[in-house]
Amino acid sequence: MHQDDCIFCKISRHEIPASIVAESATLVAFHDVNPMAPTHILVVPKEHVASVNDLDGTHASLVGDMVLMAKDLAKEQGVDVDGFRLVLNTGPQAGQSVFHIHMHLLGGRVMGWPPG
Ligand code: 5GP
Ligand code: ZN
Repeated sequence: MHQDDCIFCKISRHEIPASIVAESATLVAFHDVNPMAPTHILVVPKEHVASVNDLDGTHASLVGDMVLMAKDLAKEQGVDVDGFRLVLNTGPQAGQSVFHIHMHLLGGRVMGWPPG
């Protein structure tokens, strides 16, 4: 199910524009509108799931497919060898601002650790 007021549901249904780089039956990936690295792509399930806190066993293959799509995109973007980061911000303290689960693919620069 989708939520009428959810921006990532709207993007996944092509109701509002985004710079889409990959799409499958269950996922869509698009460039972040406010990139934090030279490569900054969001991998998003078409199903509305608010956050990691809302995942259960029925989502196991969906989550696996998110990682595999991110891996393919990292290679396509040329950041696979130097390195990249996959991030799932979850909840307010982690800085989650869109409550439709999304995996950030960040690459193309040196990353600090620990993250801020
Ligand atoms: P969060 O802070 O929830 O982990 O990440 C949300 C991300 O979504 C942010 O990096 C933000 O720039 C991005 N974002 C928010 N609204 C839009 C939008 O309408 N289009 C795109 N392409 N990215 C968005
Ligand atoms: Zn949604």
